[in-house]
Amino acid sequence: ILQTRGLDKWFGGLHVTDNVDFSMQPGEVHCLIGPNGAGKSTFFRLVLGEHLPNGGAILYDGADITRAKSYQRIRRGISVKFQVPGIFKALKVRQNLQIALQDHLSGHSLNEEIDRLLEFLKLKDAAGQLAGSLSHGQKQWLEIGMAIALKPKLLLLDEPTAGMTPDETHATGEMVQALNADGVSVLAVEHDMAFVRQIAQRVTVLHFGRVFAQGTIDEIVADERVAAIYLGETGHA
Ligand code: ATP
Ligand code: MG
Repeated sequence: ILQTRGLDKWFGGLHVTDNVDFSMQPGEVHCLIGPNGAGKSTFFRLVLGEHLPNGGAILYDGADITRAKSYQRIRRGISVKFQVPGIFKALKVRQNLQIALQDHLSGHSLNEEIDRLLEFLKLKDAAGQLAGSLSHGQKQWLEIGMAIALKPKLLLLDEPTAGMTPDETHATGEMVQALNADGVSVLAVEHDMAFVRQIAQRVTVLHFGRVFAQGTIDEIVADERVAAIYLGETGHA
């Protein structure tokens, strides 16, 4: 569903995305891991079209979207939950979801869809609360809700479990699995390896903007080279 070929991005003299060949199949749950500053969030911004690459190509659902505008990508079914909060903290939980949906639904079907999302996100009891008053975990769920409101085909989640308790993390894994069972392909940036194991069929490791390793979670955790980058033992060679 998503493929990049020789994707390159520079910020000034910094090579943040270095000749990245990436691919994931329709229906796959894939995790992107790597140390801080490896270029994971930048990769998401390239896929959504918030940054344009300096070289290479991005293919989505059989089409070349390298130069497509962000809104065109969203219309074709790409959705991103970014690492930085995007919810309206001064509005109620329900109102946030209403904003995500109101251009597409109205009246009874709008309310029904909000109720369905609240139930899915385990936020039914918090529907009338201000989004800013939610716990870290609940805020992440609302962020996920904003990203899935328009039923994307490819969902990118940047650190969905940040700030969550182990129980919330596990429940988030179940949400991802339910979305995937509904046909959504998911690419998640994640630091929690138990969560990666719970959801991902395949894992890609980024390091200094390059694809450093790729495989199943078992292959990745057994890879001494991958362990070394987390200990800072592998230089930028
Ligand atoms: P983290 O795990 O901390 O979220 P990351 O893998 O998501 O890290 P990125 O946010 O993609 O990493 O950043 C990769 C590198 O590019 C970092 O050195 C960062 O400082 C730099 N960078 C990111 N965005 C920009 C920008 N808009 N302008 C200049 N440099 C940037
Ligand atoms: Mg990041």
